Amino acid sequence: MDWPIITKSLASYQPPPNFVDYQQTCADFSWDAVRKELDGLPDGRGLNIAHEAVDRHADGSAAEKVALRWLGKQGEVKDFTYADLKAQSNRFANVLRTLGVGKGERVFSLSARIPQLYFAVLGSLKNGSVFCPLFSAFGPEPIAQRLERGNGRVLVTSERLYRKKVAKLRSSLPQLEYILLTDSDEDQADNVLSLSRLLADASPTFIIPPTDPEDMALLHFTSGTTGKPKGAIHVHNAVLTHYLTGKYVLDLHPDDIFWCTADCGWVTGTSYGIIAPLVNGVTNLVDEADYEAERWCRNLEQHRVNVWYTAPTAIRMLMRGGMKPREKFDLSRLRLVHSVGEPLNPEAVVWGEEALGLPIHDNWWQTETGGIMIANYAALDIKPGSMGLPLPGIEAAIVHKTAGGGVELENQPDCEGELALRVGWPSMFRGYLHDDERYRQCFVDDWYITGDLAQRDADGYFWFVGRADDIIKTSGHMVGPFEVESALMEHPAVAEVGVIGKPEPMIGELVKAFVSLQSGVVESEELRLELLGFARKKLGSAVAPKEIEFTDNLPKTRSGKIMRRLLKARELGLPEGDTSTLED
Ligand code: ATP
Ligand code: MG
Repeated sequence: MDWPIITKSLASYQPPPNFVDYQQTCADFSWDAVRKELDGLPDGRGLNIAHEAVDRHADGSAAEKVALRWLGKQGEVKDFTYADLKAQSNRFANVLRTLGVGKGERVFSLSARIPQLYFAVLGSLKNGSVFCPLFSAFGPEPIAQRLERGNGRVLVTSERLYRKKVAKLRSSLPQLEYILLTDSDEDQADNVLSLSRLLADASPTFIIPPTDPEDMALLHFTSGTTGKPKGAIHVHNAVLTHYLTGKYVLDLHPDDIFWCTADCGWVTGTSYGIIAPLVNGVTNLVDEADYEAERWCRNLEQHRVNVWYTAPTAIRMLMRGGMKPREKFDLSRLRLVHSVGEPLNPEAVVWGEEALGLPIHDNWWQTETGGIMIANYAALDIKPGSMGLPLPGIEAAIVHKTAGGGVELENQPDCEGELALRVGWPSMFRGYLHDDERYRQCFVDDWYITGDLAQRDADGYFWFVGRADDIIKTSGHMVGPFEVESALMEHPAVAEVGVIGKPEPMIGELVKAFVSLQSGVVESEELRLELLGFARKKLGSAVAPKEIEFTDNLPKTRSGKIMRRLLKARELGLPEGDTSTLED
């Protein structure tokens, strides 16, 4: 099915979107102008993310506005104003200073989404230290690897996580000097200290030292979907992208309540779970609990969320549960819903219209890009299945690498090639940790080659085809798994699909789909044949899967991405490679 375009009636958007005319906004764009909308540190001392996110609001008229609304697992609700957040992050910065932890030194976290984690991120940035958040569900091995590779000197964690996962590693991590426990009132041996005690003893005032926009600020490991996670280095200047995407993509307005469901353990949870909403001065909701359909819908209703940023897996889980949230919950405050992390099937975009009363706005970016690069916008029509248009200020292109080591731009519409971004946007990663060679290989001429394949249509909308690594070569065709997955998703019995190419001597690779069914649907040979026929009708026999296997659970990263490389390794009986980010 060709999905009809979802047109926007701007009259129904209140408040009006932050930009309406895309072409004009792009034509007028300059990063210098964006920089001027921010403060900079007083007396020309540079640019610091935490100053822009917190202090500039706390020092102005928004001091008493709620910056962070924290929802605890047990139903607690705690509000922190911008002034509170300033004081608490100052305290954390002072704790680091007292411990002798300075500029450029690495502070890691292994923590649930609790308020101290947010104080720690912002306080570390104020101190000029580099923050590296880890998923609290990582096992000891991935934790040790990352702490070692990232040269972690401080770890913020809980007593339980420390005892269970870190204590035994201490002897092999000599550079890891301080453990700051978020839930212990007493200091212990071996520099295992009580963070609440340290925070209580620290001064709530702190002057941010000079910060060069190019100073390293954050270290984020990629999701490990295609291989061993890479450590991407980001600098303070990234805040320009965080600010701009908060304004133009998330379309944040001063009175908004914003909720990003991502965990801080991956880049979305920091760029959009902390920085972008705060830099834009809105109220940022944080839920300590993990996904649970009823709870999430209740959050949207009770906390009157206006703008919601989530991921395709969560949306597919809601779809799978057969839920129509707006029949049961008052979602009248919700103005915009966004999704990132994986291709968003057109089915899901349209489901949003019916079940939430709003279409879902897909956007695309990577750990390496630091912020949203291609998006659907409040004011613009949505083509379901498309990632949308480049952010004003970003030049995206479809390119082909040439034999001479350069790139050639693909100017024909609807032609597939590598998705590339012209270098120079503020949140571009500045390196892969300990892997300069790999970093260099990402760039050809002045293009950053993303590793994803895409198409651009005649209206300039970008369409995801697949990761370069996942592309299937079958009988002389190149097949992107997303196309096949989306077609199968249209069948009412199907909840989720992962598609791989399975080596086959005659045709190169055979398209194989792993399908998990909607709850209540029973697998049968009849259904398998029906799905094969259904896909053939939609896709044609060259592209349609030749094999379908039912599975209850597709292997996914902890951030919810289908790990096609694991489906393939398991199918072929090959080693699974790095599984540190595989969900339990
Ligand atoms: P690794 O690089 O370690 O294999 P990863 O690429 O999954 O892991 P991330 O940086 O978290 O790590 O994810 C970025 C990738 O996620 C993109 O390159 C793209 O493949 C995919 N992605 C993100 N958003 C979208 C989207 N809206 N549509 C399609 N794919 C997306
Ligand atoms: Mg990647």
